[in-house]
Amino acid sequence: MYDYLIVGSGLYGAVFAHEAKKVGKSVLVIDKRPNIAGNVYTEDVEGIHVHKYGAHIFHTNNTEVWNYITQFATFNRFTNSPVANYKGELFSLPFNMYTFNKMWGVVTPEEAEAKIAEQRKEITGEPKNLEEQAISLVGRDIYEKLIKGYTEKQWGRDCKELPSFIIKRLPVRLTFDNNYFNALYQGIPVGGYTKMVENMLEGIEVRLNTDYFEHKAALDALAEKVVYTGPIDAYFDFKLGTLEYRSVRFENELLDIPNFQGNAAVNYTDRETPWTRIIEHKWFEFGKDANGNDLPKTVISREYSSEWKPGDEPYYPVNDEKNGKLYAEYKKLAEAETKVIFGGRLGEYKYYDMDAVIASALDLCKKEL
Ligand code: FAD
Ligand code: UDP
Repeated sequence: MYDYLIVGSGLYGAVFAHEAKKVGKSVLVIDKRPNIAGNVYTEDVEGIHVHKYGAHIFHTNNTEVWNYITQFATFNRFTNSPVANYKGELFSLPFNMYTFNKMWGVVTPEEAEAKIAEQRKEITGEPKNLEEQAISLVGRDIYEKLIKGYTEKQWGRDCKELPSFIIKRLPVRLTFDNNYFNALYQGIPVGGYTKMVENMLEGIEVRLNTDYFEHKAALDALAEKVVYTGPIDAYFDFKLGTLEYRSVRFENELLDIPNFQGNAAVNYTDRETPWTRIIEHKWFEFGKDANGNDLPKTVISREYSSEWKPGDEPYYPVNDEKNGKLYAEYKKLAEAETKVIFGGRLGEYKYYDMDAVIASALDLCKKEL
């Protein structure tokens, strides 16, 4: 009999498994995928760590989380600074003096501020949705060229129907600073995320290609308690209805050239280009292999956003009012399950970044172990 069955070998499951083992508990980790690490899984292609389930840049202001995760990997100095491509015109992201200079020709922060202030005037009162929030943050020109098309492709919804908090994730700066994140710590684990999660799961029994629901009774019988990190609605067989997710499809290509776009991420912010962005994975590690040699080839991934339907990978919870209410109902059911703990991005239906998932798993460890 195991003390814990952990469903999901993503970061949440891996942190809990590691900590439980450390205090002498016996744990079994299962995952329905053929690989560990959940969405942070990286696969080696021609010496390049390909982020198979989407580009992942670790960033945090939480020193406890940083000290925790750096036990398992050394992080490189990668700083995320995506470029926006609007119909062939390139802009720096996030919104900063380089962006404002290219957009309006302004040179000083004062001129940029005046331009934004003038364009913000059309919004009176508290912004009610993403469109109003965006215009009130950076003005209509930037909204039209760099936000509207990208956001509507990513979320499959009109900007007027999306919550304003989504856009508040992006910094707006009156300085020349292309660092996408306002984070004290940032980087990519040297050797790839998969290696990092392997280190977390060292000495722990992991069964891959194992879907919890296909063997639920038998698996439940193996452990005192279950930590479940899959979608909360799937656990209850969708009996209250399905929560909505956004899914993403990646088209990967190995190219026999050393440099496709000169940057890890280029966002295509117009409405017509069908993909949202192209990731060129080698630039997360400066185009070098493990021995510091230049890599001759490159792997790119075009990212297409789509509405989730049963059978697809659920990537982004849609944290709007309707889904929030349905989640609250599922949460009540979850709280009534005494043997099962629900955690992680899908288990809690929350738009968590990696650091928040680690923090949340560490909180659980403090309470549970
Ligand atoms: P997951 O990694 O989803 O792990 C859940 C695991 O449970 C999966 O392996 C799944 O196969 C398994 N599972 C589910 N159901 C079952 C079942 N029935 N039986 C068995 N196993 C099951 N965060 C950042 O900090 N920086 C970024 O740059 C960033 N970029 C992102 C880009 C994309 C495209 C996406 C989707 C997310 C991004 N994130 C980023 C968020 C990050 O991926 C998550 O915070 C983190 O991976 C969540 O970990 P988790 O363990 O909760 O979930
Ligand atoms: N966004 C945008 N244009 C961009 C990049 C982002 O309008 O070029 C908006 C979009 O609505 C997105 C939000 O900003 O959902 C948050 O972006 P972030 O990169 O944080 O999203 P992630 O893909 O990391 O979850």
